[in-house]
Amino acid sequence: MEWRERAICLAEDPDLFFPVGNSGSGPTLIQTDEAKAVCRRCPVREQCLDWALDAGPMDGIWGGTTEQERRAMARRLVPSGG
Ligand code: SF4
Repeated sequence: MEWRERAICLAEDPDLFFPVGNSGSGPTLIQTDEAKAVCRRCPVREQCLDWALDAGPMDGIWGGTTEQERRAMARRLVPSGG
């Protein structure tokens, strides 16, 4: 995955992208916003998000999204059938 070499999070504390605690709590929301702000400046955000969506359920902020947001995106992308 050559795009990973251009990931700007390589220069950040990896813990920033893995907020711990209740996702609705103040400190967790602040950390999530900080991680997303890094992702917004990242030149490989799209590739990162595609990779995370393909990878399936996974903790952390990837491509500027939380796991919960990726789950919602995946539900919209996959037809429910029937
Ligand atoms: S989009 Fe975010 S998590 Fe993905 S490589 Fe870029 S900075 Fe890292």
